[in-house]
Amino acid sequence: MDENILALLVDLHREGKRQGPGSDAITRKAMALGGLSADSGLKIADIGCGTGAASLILAGDLGAQVTAVDLFPDFLDQLSARAEAAGLGDQITTVQASMDDLPFDAGRFDVIWSEGAIYNMGFEAGIRAWQRFLRPGGLLAVSELSWFTAERPPALEAYWSEQYPGVATASAKMGQLEAAGYLPVGYFPLPASAWLDEYYAPTQARVPAFLKRHQNSEAAQAVIEMEQAEIAHFTAHHHQYGYGFYLARTPGG
Ligand code: SAH
Repeated sequence: MDENILALLVDLHREGKRQGPGSDAITRKAMALGGLSADSGLKIADIGCGTGAASLILAGDLGAQVTAVDLFPDFLDQLSARAEAAGLGDQITTVQASMDDLPFDAGRFDVIWSEGAIYNMGFEAGIRAWQRFLRPGGLLAVSELSWFTAERPPALEAYWSEQYPGVATASAKMGQLEAAGYLPVGYFPLPASAWLDEYYAPTQARVPAFLKRHQNSEAAQAVIEMEQAEIAHFTAHHHQYGYGFYLARTPGG
């Protein structure tokens, strides 16, 4: 993507609590489904953490040590400030790195968490690349774009085969986890409110200030048009696709 557009996207989203669909309650639901309970010794990586929506819950609820990874320093700076403000500064360490080239030793983490981010390298590539960083019996928890119906209108298939060809049904994603050597633990679909109320509405609320900051530049308007098109598409088709939360364990442990 054009560097200027990327910088604008980061600017639009850096003040957000989250940069993708989800909610605190959904993070907690996934924690419960994964069998996580308070344990100050737990080592968790949050990959594609953004400004840290999930990192803060994981550190706060579990008392875990969280390594929060993102490509963009602006997001990590926000996350550090929020962690300090929440009294969690000692538990959250930020690392600027690309998810396809993580600087960690094998077996280093008990849990790998990633909400709304693995699509940047693709689900199959991501689950395979990240497995080595988990200890035996470690937990993978990932939210990922998923089909909610077995069949879709051809226009919708065409749209997503261009935008994200990795989209698939939950059973197909579970099959990919098994093929990669994981033991599936659970799945649940995210409600539409996780997109509309938790992510899109707060993004929309930031649009006027964003456009003003960039003097209504053509590039800034183009970024907003992209966002509006995405929102309109989701609003029209959310019965057929959305995010699924996938939990799986590595064998052993
Ligand atoms: N998990 C956060 C953010 C989701 S948005 C939340 O749920 O709110 C996707 C995140 O992936 C963004 O923060 C983006 O900066 C990050 N990202 C994109 N490409 C990346 C890469 N190659 N490596 C690491 N992070 C990346």
